[in-house]
Amino acid sequence: MLGVLSALACARRPSSAAPPAPLVVRDVVSMPAVGADVPAVKPPVPLRDPLAPTSLRATVEALAAPSMEGREPETRGDAQARALIESTMRRAGLTAPTGGFQQPFTFENDDEEEVNTANVVGVLRGADPQRAHEIVVVGAHHDHLGREGRRIFHGANDNASGVSVVLAVAEALARRAVALPRTVAFVTFGAEEEGLHGSAAWVRSPPAELPMAQTMFMLNLDMVGSYASDGCLYALHTFRGTPGRLALDALAPAYPDLRIELGTAGDDSDHVNFCAAGVPTTFFYTPDPRCYHRPCDTAARIEWDHLSRIAHLAYDLVVSVARADDLAAHRAAGCHPRAR
Ligand SMILES: [Zn+2]
Repeated sequence: MLGVLSALACARRPSSAAPPAPLVVRDVVSMPAVGADVPAVKPPVPLRDPLAPTSLRATVEALAAPSMEGREPETRGDAQARALIESTMRRAGLTAPTGGFQQPFTFENDDEEEVNTANVVGVLRGADPQRAHEIVVVGAHHDHLGREGRRIFHGANDNASGVSVVLAVAEALARRAVALPRTVAFVTFGAEEEGLHGSAAWVRSPPAELPMAQTMFMLNLDMVGSYASDGCLYALHTFRGTPGRLALDALAPAYPDLRIELGTAGDDSDHVNFCAAGVPTTFFYTPDPRCYHRPCDTAARIEWDHLSRIAHLAYDLVVSVARADDLAAHRAAGCHPRAR
């Protein structure tokens, strides 16, 4: 996250003290039954649920570990973080577009130095020949502020949390028995903190198979592990009539444990570049003002149960939008609010 959206405030009703509802495990691949006449080779391995708190926690703790040194672009920690993201995408069975899982780009930093880093992308091809060319992007930035001497800016909420949700949704969707009709591209962007450079590079020059003209919707996750700070999930840029708003209006009743703030604009993260290119967007955001851009933004402060509920909601949102009937018409109408 590039800046604090200080004008935002949930209606500050006390948030429910009840713990999140028990998680429903969706789309778990069923293993073939081993009959008496079939030689048992191996017992079925229980698959972990990618959207479960423990799964998300493993990703956040890995990305926010001291060894990642704050994931500043073109550092060793940046390369390690990208390698971890790529290996998770490979394990999930995502494919790489032209140019590979890592899409290099350069930008000029505040000291006028050229910095080399990359976005990371994995693709799940749509199953419907009529709609597979239409693309839904699920994105989160993976970079953070690096270190100052011995002070490491771990960036657990900002934005290991968002990356953990992108990867979890990718793994869960890859396991669906029935593939989605449209193509979903999972992208983690570099160099967000220094000026949204990764998403700008993507919008300028996306991989050949993922052109902007065919990009129908973008979900951005930036800082989603601190629900309790404001007692709500901001779902920003969900202007009336946009695909994200329509999907969330329908989904919200299934998430009574999440207060979802809809409709407000919110800038300063990667969806802004997609919005400017005319792509309808939704931006999930739970700020932690106390540790924003400070070394105390560590995994110890992340709320795993709420993070998991937000990951489930992100999953449901992507499924809903990727199956929607009238996505091309929404894309033609653009990113911004309209009365309807
Ligand atoms: Zn930030």
